[in-house]
Amino acid sequence: MFESLSDKLSAVFDRITRRGALTEADVSEALREIRKALLEADVALDVVRSFTDKVRDRAVGAGVIKSVSPGQMVVKIVNDVLIETLGETAQPIDLAAKPPVAIMMVGLQGAGKTTTTAKIAKRLKERHDKRVLMASLDVKRPAAQEQLAVLGRQVEVDTLPIVAGQTPIQISRRAMEAARLQGYDVVLLDTAGRTHIDEPLMQEMADIKSYAEPHEILLVADSLTGQDAVNLAKNFDERVGLTGIVLTRMDGDGRGGAALSMRYVTGKPIKLIGTGEKMDALDEFSPSRIAQRILGMGDIVALVEKAAAAIDAEEARKAAARMAKGKFDLQDLCDQLAQVEKLGGLGGIMGLLPGVGKMKEQIANLDEGLIGRQRAIILSMTPQERRNPDLLKASRKKRIAAGSGARVEDVNKLLKQHRQMADLMKSFGAGKRGGLMGKAAQ
Ligand code: GDP
Repeated sequence: MFESLSDKLSAVFDRITRRGALTEADVSEALREIRKALLEADVALDVVRSFTDKVRDRAVGAGVIKSVSPGQMVVKIVNDVLIETLGETAQPIDLAAKPPVAIMMVGLQGAGKTTTTAKIAKRLKERHDKRVLMASLDVKRPAAQEQLAVLGRQVEVDTLPIVAGQTPIQISRRAMEAARLQGYDVVLLDTAGRTHIDEPLMQEMADIKSYAEPHEILLVADSLTGQDAVNLAKNFDERVGLTGIVLTRMDGDGRGGAALSMRYVTGKPIKLIGTGEKMDALDEFSPSRIAQRILGMGDIVALVEKAAAAIDAEEARKAAARMAKGKFDLQDLCDQLAQVEKLGGLGGIMGLLPGVGKMKEQIANLDEGLIGRQRAIILSMTPQERRNPDLLKASRKKRIAAGSGARVEDVNKLLKQHRQMADLMKSFGAGKRGGLMGKAAQ
């Protein structure tokens, strides 16, 4: 799931994050490609429109084009809008009602309703320590009740004994009574499916609902059916009312449109996702985790969040401009070390950087305390010395070492390191990278 969308968005991001600067035309082009990728992923048109509008508004509002690393900012904005579209926060099953809490499962035949019912029962038993009773209300399909009983034995959850000839309402009454008498916390009502929505099915759902007064009504929909799943949810919601959605077959190679459109179109949260045939293959639907899966850009997002809080954009731009001309003096190094410290030290940023490559080796040699000591050395120099390291002959080095509590050896080491970094800066090519942090955030 999401693979093709993910690949396409990565390609867009790759292009924009590789540039030092973005024009408005670049952003518009990126938005056009994002729009295309979403449409190809079978995301509903309304959702695509709202999505790209939001990204555009924020990109303009946040002054992205003028920011330190505009490409990364766009990635972060897309990430945020994606999470909002998916529903912001995870919405677990709500059991906050007087027991026995009824949960009604609805959906079309073959969507995975019975399997999901058993998966939920297992989860509530194991993770929430609930006593669960399952009942199949499907009297149309002869094997349906037996299928649930088999799954019940498998997950070691009780099922309501089968009594032939009862109507769905009679079965739900029996289930609720049994639960009350025998102290079950939760009753899962697995209703009958059809191959398509029809009036008798909707009427049956409405009747069961008014009798059992379920606290949750969960639609089980097959994510592989894309927009059909979303329309189905709309229909069910209008007629019966839904409290949430379970999307099955998220382990399949669907394009992801249903997952992306569902919340926006129906206003109902996706609560759980089915990720396989096994009884454990059920996950909570976490918008941030799905966004991470789609964008694969968690590193950049985390870095932009940190950097936004720490980096003075104006200063960084000035530094970038100097480095673009191949200038990287000791004052620049000192400023960059200060930025690294603000970002939580080397340990803090190293884990976040995608493909720092050669630079990683350079700064991996620094230990955390070293940054502070190195800054102290540079701060003991005169402004002229910082701008022109060639002035630093033996006597000056001695003075600086004494002033910063370091050894002449340490001063030499720092100078050597600076020389290496200055060379590296030049080798990156003029105008491409904004210094250490600029490179780091690429
Ligand atoms: P129902 O008619 O809606 O009750 O559907 P079933 O529960 O009988 O499921 C139909 C088929 O889909 C079964 O073979 C299930 O194992 C399979 N299935 C259900 N959920 C998932 C899922 O999340 N992933 C995969 N791969 N298969 C699933």
